[in-house]
Parts: sequence; structure tokens; C-alpha cells
Amino acid sequence: MSKMAEYISIAHMKDHVGEEVIIKGWLYNSRSSGKLMFPEIRDGSGLVQGVVFKKDVDEEVWDTLKSLPQESALEVKGIVTSHPKKEGVFELQINAIEVMHESEPYPITPKEHGIDFLIGHRHLWLRSKRQWAIMRVRHQMISAIQDFFNKREFIRIDSPILTPAACEGTTTLFETPYFDLGKAYLSQSGQLYGEASAMAHGKIYVFGPTFRAEKSKTRRHLTEFWMVEPEMAFYDLEMTMNLAEEFIEYVVGRVLEFCKDELTILERELKPLENVVRPFPRITYDKAAALLKEKGAEFDYGNDFGAPDETAIAAEFNKPVIVHHFPADIKAFYMKRDPENPNLSLSMDILAPEGYGEIIGGAQREDSLDHLTKRLEEHHLPKESFEWYLDLRRYGSVPHAGFGLGLERTLAWICGLEHIRETAPYPRMIYRITP
Ligand code: ATP
Ligand code: MG
Repeated sequence: MSKMAEYISIAHMKDHVGEEVIIKGWLYNSRSSGKLMFPEIRDGSGLVQGVVFKKDVDEEVWDTLKSLPQESALEVKGIVTSHPKKEGVFELQINAIEVMHESEPYPITPKEHGIDFLIGHRHLWLRSKRQWAIMRVRHQMISAIQDFFNKREFIRIDSPILTPAACEGTTTLFETPYFDLGKAYLSQSGQLYGEASAMAHGKIYVFGPTFRAEKSKTRRHLTEFWMVEPEMAFYDLEMTMNLAEEFIEYVVGRVLEFCKDELTILERELKPLENVVRPFPRITYDKAAALLKEKGAEFDYGNDFGAPDETAIAAEFNKPVIVHHFPADIKAFYMKRDPENPNLSLSMDILAPEGYGEIIGGAQREDSLDHLTKRLEEHHLPKESFEWYLDLRRYGSVPHAGFGLGLERTLAWICGLEHIRETAPYPRMIYRITP
């Protein structure tokens, strides 16, 4: 193939209109109308429609392309043109083609497939347009998350994934033998270590995979998911809610700005995302409980909200809603009690709109050694395992707070997906650990 033409990626075609270029990729789809053929080619950076006129190419080129199976790898040469009708869309007037690998018949065809089949072929399904778009939004979110905290001078300090016995009770943890030291557990949250790191650096964030061995087979739960957990010394609940609100606005704003094409592929309605602008509504747990009662939900005061409750509460608002001051009894041992009402905790959850449920859980932490020791006893947690954590209350204890946002759950909401399984590159669920 002539090397006069420059090898470019599809994403950069707009800078090469009128030029002859080379594109390397895979055949995504093809349709033909006798004298014309429209092979769609993807190269990872994007998707382009090629145009081939039978009269303009060698018979061999025409015949090769015509019988080429979907997903065959190929190199094509042609001239970049602007789409005659769609602004910002480019086409490639193909004049030469070289096949790098002729694919075997590809299992994922344009017809409908069942979800089990698709998940079972996740290693190939990732190539499909929708899945491609979701992973690109995921990438943009990850990048926005890091930029948000880095710009605010937070230091990223990750917590260990292998942790020793009993950090929040072990019932929902995956365990593994650990040499001569007994058992280790896969971390379900980096927070406790995050608190220690915050005492060293002031404002930090943990960003890594977390694991839950809960048997919840829902459209919101994975057994392995990523969580970003900022933790800040000298922050109280109010400051933490402000930060969380700013954070969500930033991440959604970034996706709206940089992922227009992806959101179009996903047919995502934009209005609900454009609404995600501060301030968010804030209501107490008590008020949320009263609201559920008014709406006739079967909800008992004092319980945690179930998925339908969260959906019902969120439906009252057109942006994420912050619910704060949950009863202390249903929250973790490390959350500080409200000094004005010790039955309540200085906690907050943020519920996404459109029925996506809780995307953030956060709180001000208990900073008194005495109170925290008492909480450990009440929760039947072994004090020895927490001595290091109690040290943070022995040596320069300060008010501090933080939250955790689930990457995949938030991504499912931003992309408007029905199920969380499409948000992880290789999702891990109770009934699925392959491929
Ligand atoms: P839920 O009640 O929805 O199961 P949780 O209260 O147990 O969640 P937290 O421990 O507060 O969750 O975790 C913080 C965030 O991590 C949640 O707000 C959510 O975004 C995300 N998250 C929690 N569990 C899962 C899971 N199994 N799969 C995906 N994301 C999750
Ligand atoms: Mg929670």
C-alpha cells in the first residue's frame, strides 16, 4: 500500500478532509447496493462509514470486501470527505484495501442476542458500539474524578486490598488464606485506612476496587466495583455535603462536555443530566421517612431505605437529593452521633435521580476515643484489631469526614443503563465470574 498516505485514527479524520489517508481497523458492518458498498470500519477511536464505488476499484478489491466477514482486520486507503448531509460526520472514499486477518464467522451479529450470551462473550461484546460508548464514558469519569480532587490539592493515597480480619464484621467479605497469618479479606472499603492517611496529609482520596460478598442479585450490585473515597481532616458533615455536591456536578458536567457522541450512541436523554447543578435538595432522614409515609409506602421508621424507597424519594426531585441524619442504629460504628440527638448519626447518602438509587454514602467520623471504643463493643467488634484505628483518636484527634462514591453505579445512572453489569469492563456478579 502506498506510504504517501498518512496513517491516522478515525477520531482525527476531521483534520484530514480532502487528504488521502490510511486507516487500520476492523470491519464492523457492511451494506451494498449493487454498484456501491458501505463498509463500516471501527478502529477503537471511532467508527467511520466507507464508500466504495464498484467502477472506481479493482474487481479484486470489490470482491474481497463483499465477502469479508464481520470483524475481519483490515487496512484501507481512501480520501476523507465530509458527509453530504450530516455536519461533523466524515466518510472515507475507499480506493484500496488490504486484509490483515479474515475473521471466522463472528458470534455477535447485528441481530438481537440474549444477555447471558452477550455477557458470556464480554471479551468480544466490548467491541459493540454501545459497549464501546459506555467504556469511553467510564474513562472520562475516572479522569474527571482524579482531576477534581487533584485540582483541590487532595493527595491520592490508596488503601490495601488485602486486609486482616474483621474490619467491619466479615460476613460480606471474600476471604483467602494468607500464608502463616491465617485469613485475609478483600477490602469492602478503603475508608478506615483513608482516615489514617488524612491525618498524615489533610485531604486525601482513595480510588480503587472494592469487594462485597453480599448475595444481592439486583441491577445495582456487583461483587467487585470501584469506589472513590475522599477523606478530609477538619471537615464536618456540612462541608462534606458541599464537597460531594460540587463533585457530582463536576463529573456530570465533564461527561456532558466531552462525551456528546457517546451519549448520543446510548440515546441518553440529556435534560436530566443538565439539571445536575448545585444546590441539590437536602432533606433529613426523618423528612424522607415522612415523605414515604405520605406516599403510602410500606416503610417503618428506623429502617434503612430499600431500593423502591430510594426511587420514591428521588422521584420528588429533578436532581440528586441528599438525605442526611440517619438513625445511628442502621449506620456503621465509626459515624459520629449528632450532639443534639444521639439517636441520629452525622451521616448522609446521595440518591441519584431516575431510580438509580444511592450513589454516595458518607459521614462525619467519631473522633472521641471513649465513644469509638464504646461503639466497637456495641457492634461486637474485636478491639485488638482496631487498636491502630483507635490510635487516630489518641494522637491528635480532629473532626474529620468523608464519603464514598461507587463508580459503576454512578456510571449506570449517567449513561441511563438498565443494569449495572454493562458498566464494568469484565463484570463480576454472584452468578458470573467469566470471561
Ligand atoms: P447499597 O445499600 O445500595 O447496597 P451500601 O450502602 O451498602 O449500598 P456503601 O457501603 O455506602 O454502600 O458504599 C458506597 C457506595 O458504593 C454506594 O453509595 C454505591 O454507590 C456503591 N456500592 C455499594 N455497594 C455496591 C455494589 N455491590 N455494587 C456497586 N456499587 C456499590
Ligand atoms: Mg451506603
